Amino acid sequence: MFFIHTDRVWKHEFADTQRKAQEDATAAGDDQETKTCQECGTTNYDKKFYEEFQILICYACRRALPEYALITKSAAKADWLVTDTDLYHLPFMSKPNKAKPQWGNISLYVTKMVEQLSMNRYKHT
Ligand SMILES: [Zn+2]
Repeated sequence: MFFIHTDRVWKHEFADTQRKAQEDATAAGDDQETKTCQECGTTNYDKKFYEEFQILICYACRRALPEYALITKSAAKADWLVTDTDLYHLPFMSKPNKAKPQWGNISLYVTKMVEQLSMNRYKHT
């Protein structure tokens, strides 16, 4: 009887320790959370894209999903009817204009963000 009893106690304590370990792991995870692609969950996300836009997306999903495509400022204004003032608040990626270097850098926006901006702008009309 004594033996069975200790066995039960041991199991109970073991389960407790396991739960504790899990809780610790979860708590630690908050500090250095594993960043994953918000579409497919891979940890191989595009770090540059995350730095610029705070969007966690991997290269494959970016290529596959049109809403993550980068569009120029003029395309954003033409396609989504947003203004310079609207776009002022959006993060963008600055790239040298290879075709017309004298025009300076071109600003690239994420389609999805421009779309949301446009929807917010026109939702009450
Ligand atoms: Zn992905």
